[in-house]
Amino acid sequence: MTDSPTKKQTQTQSHAQPRSQQNEQQSDRLHRYVFNELDCRGELVQINQSLNQIFENHQYPQPVKRLLAELMVATALLTATLKFEGDISVQLQGDGPVSYAVINGNNKLELRGLAKLQGEIVNEDLHSLIGHGHMVITITPDKGERYQGIVQLEGDNLAQCIEAYFKQSEQLETKLWMACELSPENNKAAALFLQILPANTTRSEEDFQHLTALSGTVKDEELLHLDANTLLTRLYHQENPTIYPSQAVSFKCGCSREKTEAALASMVKSELLEQVESQGVINVDCQFCQSRFAFDMAAIKKLPG
Ligand SMILES: [Zn+2]
Repeated sequence: MTDSPTKKQTQTQSHAQPRSQQNEQQSDRLHRYVFNELDCRGELVQINQSLNQIFENHQYPQPVKRLLAELMVATALLTATLKFEGDISVQLQGDGPVSYAVINGNNKLELRGLAKLQGEIVNEDLHSLIGHGHMVITITPDKGERYQGIVQLEGDNLAQCIEAYFKQSEQLETKLWMACELSPENNKAAALFLQILPANTTRSEEDFQHLTALSGTVKDEELLHLDANTLLTRLYHQENPTIYPSQAVSFKCGCSREKTEAALASMVKSELLEQVESQGVINVDCQFCQSRFAFDMAAIKKLPG
């Protein structure tokens, strides 16, 4: 838990705002495209600033950073593919050293995330990190019913889990290529996504194989560092995809004093009063962004109930 007061963090964030918006325009974006005359569609997501912000104020070991980076690009791709208006949460849960990793977001691709560690990391692959476990995808639309999909952790990595998810839930062939570049100063992640359109003809399968072969030539370096137009032209210049307007990906926590108040109001008031009397103040730290919300006796007394 950090000791930095909330006020200081708010100031730092607001100062950084114009620059991060600029960076987002360059790098934190999701591109969608459909291949003309081929029964497939694709997406490319590249993140930098928003990933740095997810890691801010957390001391994650390198393999956990990698896992969160992959989970973040995967969540952005799922959000753009599943098309809903509302919130999404993609969680990994298991009995391994990383007991829990989550990215929460919404259809505006405003994302936040965290991981919880419970043991020593020996090997860095997905199964060694999460252990026996599963991936839970929850979509809470603004209107309509909540949807939850659960996938066993199959395959060797997160990309294969997502591929298995689409195969199971929508019977759609899907392929993902992911890359990360992590350092204490700067972090980047990117993913390329390819999916067969639900036409189900023999030709679709051939189209998919053809585009899989082309996409498979992508190098991590290209995925992370080339701008989207250059990369898509390099990979698919003969396939002539129609590219839709891109969408910004950003970090947004969404925590607030009001939400924290609401959470406190649902707790037993006499216990809160007891706690604030002995401690002078109740500090509630946001686990995602480490913002601290402090409640003194007067604030606790004002809570309803
Ligand atoms: Zn927060």
